[in-house]
Amino acid sequence: MTTHIRPQPGIMDIALYEGGASHVAGRTDAIKLSSNENPFGPSDKAKDAFVKCAHTMHRYPSTDHARLRTAIGEVHGLDPDRIICGAGSDEIIHLLCQSFVGHRDEVVFTEHGFLMYRIATQAAGGTPVQVAERERTTDVDAILAACTKKTKLVFLANPNNPTGTMIGLAELEHLAAGLPKGVLLVVDGAYAEYVEGYDGGAELATRLPNVFMTRTFSKIYGLGGLRVGWGYGPREVIDILNRIRGPFNLSTAQLETSEAAVRDQDWVNKCRDDNTRLRAWLAEALAEKGVPSDTSTANFILARFASEEEATACDAYLKTEGIIVRRVAGYNLPNCLRITVGDEPSCRRVAHLIGVFKAGGAGPQE
Ligand SMILES: *Cc1c(COP(=O)(O)O)cnc(C)c1O
Repeated sequence: MTTHIRPQPGIMDIALYEGGASHVAGRTDAIKLSSNENPFGPSDKAKDAFVKCAHTMHRYPSTDHARLRTAIGEVHGLDPDRIICGAGSDEIIHLLCQSFVGHRDEVVFTEHGFLMYRIATQAAGGTPVQVAERERTTDVDAILAACTKKTKLVFLANPNNPTGTMIGLAELEHLAAGLPKGVLLVVDGAYAEYVEGYDGGAELATRLPNVFMTRTFSKIYGLGGLRVGWGYGPREVIDILNRIRGPFNLSTAQLETSEAAVRDQDWVNKCRDDNTRLRAWLAEALAEKGVPSDTSTANFILARFASEEEATACDAYLKTEGIIVRRVAGYNLPNCLRITVGDEPSCRRVAHLIGVFKAGGAGPQE
């Protein structure tokens, strides 16, 4: 049977997103270090708020998310009227592309940039434009050089996933200042909370008319399974996004839980401190075993191996030992493995096993 139903241009070019694996066949005790999740989970206050929602599930949720936006505004010192909330920052990224990108418009991002930028661009019929990085670090002038009359959006994760590197606010401002008129710079701050004293681009997005910031509850807040993210930027942009946002895009449980989470900054600070300490330990332990990495500013390390073959073999070995890390060949980094900073026993275990592997003690890998 043939069907004459055809999708919009670009849809069939989209490669399905592959998330970090979460299981090893035949094991129930696998340690998952593949999705940059907070090993300590969410704050107790967030969990309590979630449980309470069970009693009000028959009611439709708020459509304007006023209470959550107010809480975010208070915690970050931002105008709640310039905030929009969505089902993960994924939804915000999609809303941006749906709103600003049409057939053949261009969207610029870096060579090791987050896969969702490409997917959302193609879903909107746009053309992804990938820009080279310099030593796995954003090259602002290369981004500026890639912009054309067709460019509508520039996506930049800072810190970036999966490289873990970041650029400073002065460079971000230089980028914003150099963009052609009509191009919106989207600074993705999914890992901003891991950087002490960094506002994720909030101040730039407050002051400059062409900067938009996205944030998420999926990483340091430990709520990846809940699906809540938010965006902040010019009032006009928020107004545009709200016109296509589903009125009930967030459930009561999502709203109440993330509101309790954002108000518990003690938990965020504790998780940042733990991550900073364990990340430094893990990076040094791996370097001692002959596996270097760039200085990470996020909750993961991009471990560099001698070759694609070695990275593949190490990934296979870790799996047989019940540890799941992330292959990043899909991010043009075939010789690397991205390893989430877990709790202390997980960090010790993965470092130990990689040491065994590098010392040739892992046995033949089929
Ligand atoms: C994990 C991540 C996000 C978060 O996506 P959610 O949809 O909010 O879970 C956004 N951007 C980058 C670069 C990420 O790594």
